[in-house]
Amino acid sequence: MGLLNFEGVKIDNAPEEVIPKCPYCRKDLETIWIKTKGIGIVEQKQLIMCPHCKSFLGFGAFSV
Ligand SMILES: [Zn+2]
Repeated sequence: MGLLNFEGVKIDNAPEEVIPKCPYCRKDLETIWIKTKGIGIVEQKQLIMCPHCKSFLGFGAFSV
């Protein structure tokens, strides 16, 4: 996943109350599901999933 480049676009912080939407089912992601793959501390990948449609949204590194 590369960084997005919005050249010439003003970047602003989203308001605190804004909830991201799932790009697949368009539902609010007030909760996301995390599925941790792999055992051990070094090779731990977390899959981020939409709890509504169970779509894979990306990888994350959360401490739950
Ligand atoms: Zn979804």
